[in-house]
Amino acid sequence: MPCVFCQILSGEAPASIIYKDEQVTAFRDTHPIARTHILIIPNRHIASVNDLEPGDDALVGHMVMVAQNLAAQEGVAENGYRLMINTGEHAGQTVPHLHLHLIAGRLARFLVG
Ligand code: AMP
Ligand code: ZN
Repeated sequence: MPCVFCQILSGEAPASIIYKDEQVTAFRDTHPIARTHILIIPNRHIASVNDLEPGDDALVGHMVMVAQNLAAQEGVAENGYRLMINTGEHAGQTVPHLHLHLIAGRLARFLVG
């Protein structure tokens, strides 16, 4: 079974894509845990933070900068938001393709993931 996020990237699986560039793609989480819940993923399959390599510094930085821009676009920058990357089973990572959660809404501060 191919990675579902790779299927979104190739267009085989549907997604509400809100941003795309040469390095990353962002789309809305299908099971949002707050009013704003966006996932930012690399366009290349990287299973988790454990699989990042030294040359990926710029990619990870870019993911955070895209999150900053999307937070502004969503109108949540001022009130605040949470950026979260779950890694591995004990953290509850369910999709084995690196993803940065951008979570915002009144209750975002109480969420633990
Ligand atoms: P994590 O638990 O950190 O691995 O988060 C995976 C997230 O991906 C969950 O919040 C899911 O709701 C979300 N998700 C799973 N499949 C899809 C999909 N096809 N489109 C959008 N979001 C998805
Ligand atoms: Zn993938």
